[in-house]
Amino acid sequence: MRIVVLAGGIGGARFLRGLKKAAPDADVTVIGNTGDDIHLFGLKICPDLDTVMYTLGGGINEEQGWGRTDETFAVKSELAAYGVGPDWFGLGDRDFATHIVRTQMLGAGYPLSAVTEALCARWQPGVRLLPMSDDRVETHVAVDVDGERKAVHFQEYWVKMHASVDAQAVVPVGADQAKPAPGVLEAIAASDVVLFPPSNPVVSIGTILAVPGVREAIAEAGVPVVGLSPIVGDAPVRGMADKVLAAIGVESTASAVARHYGSGLLDGWLVDTVDAAAVPEIESAGIRARAVPLMMTDLEAAAAMAAEALALAEEVRA
Ligand code: GDP
Ligand code: CA
Repeated sequence: MRIVVLAGGIGGARFLRGLKKAAPDADVTVIGNTGDDIHLFGLKICPDLDTVMYTLGGGINEEQGWGRTDETFAVKSELAAYGVGPDWFGLGDRDFATHIVRTQMLGAGYPLSAVTEALCARWQPGVRLLPMSDDRVETHVAVDVDGERKAVHFQEYWVKMHASVDAQAVVPVGADQAKPAPGVLEAIAASDVVLFPPSNPVVSIGTILAVPGVREAIAEAGVPVVGLSPIVGDAPVRGMADKVLAAIGVESTASAVARHYGSGLLDGWLVDTVDAAAVPEIESAGIRARAVPLMMTDLEAAAAMAAEALALAEEVRA
C-alpha cells in the first residue's frame, strides 16, 4: 500500500507516527510544508520538515512538539550576549547543528529535497520525506498594527506575535511560481491513498496545495483522499488555526474545514466524536464522514485514528 500524506508540523508528525504503527508495511511518502521556512542567524530553518523528521526519528522534544530532546541553549545565550537576535525564535544547540548542515549543503548547491534526504539518512524516519518544493515559498500574514496594514512572515505572526491580532490575509508568497519538488507528483500519481492529517488547513495543507500541480495531481490520481479534522469542538486542538481560517473566511468547525477542501478534492473526512452532529452536513456536501476519537493523546490513539482513516478510504474506494 502506497500512502501519500500532506503534512505540516506537530499535527502531521504525530499522526504519521500513528500511521506507521497502524500500517507498518505501508510505503509512506510525506509531502512536507515549507511555507513556514525562514532564514534566521544566517541559517535556513525548515520547522515543519524538522518536526516530522525529529518526531519520526525519535529526536523530538515531546512536550513542545518541536525542537530537539535534551536541548541546551548555549548558542542562543551567546548570541544574546552579542545583542544578536531575534530573541523570539528559540533554537537549541542540537537544533543549530541541523540548520548548519542544511545551510551548508544548500550553499554548495544541493536542492532542499536532496538536503532533506541527507538529513533523514541520520534520522531514519521510516517514511520518504519530500519538501513540497525546492523553490522558496514563504507564507506571509497581513495584519493591522497601529492602524497600518503590514505583512509579516508567518513565524513572526505565530511565534513572536502569538497570533494576538487578527490575520487579515494569508499569502504563500512565491507559491504560484514554485514547482513541486522531484518525486512529489510521481508519488501522488503512484499512490493508493492520499491522507490529510490533522494539520493546519490554511498554512500547512493549504500551502502545499498552493504549489501548482499538487492539487490537480491529487484530484486526478483517482484514489481515495481522506482527511482528519484538526478542529475538535469548534476550536483547534492546539495552536491558532482559527485565526488563519478566519482570514480566508472559513469557520473553525470540522464541517466548514471539510467543505473548504470540498468534494472535488476530499472523498472522506473524520471528525471527532464530539462533532458527530456535523456528519450529515458534511455528507450532504458529498464527502463521506465518520465521527471517531481524534485526540492524539498517545501513540495508540494516533494509530487508531490512522486505522480509521485507512478504513474510510477503503469504504469510499468500494
Ligand atoms: P504545525 O505546523 O506545528 O502547526 O502543525 P500542523 O499544521 O501539522 O498541525 C497543526 C494542527 O494540528 C492544529 O490546527 C491542531 O488543531 C491540530 N492538532 C494538534 N494535535 C491534535 C490532535 O491531537 N487531534 C487533532 N484532531 N488535531 C490536532
Ligand atoms: Ca508549521
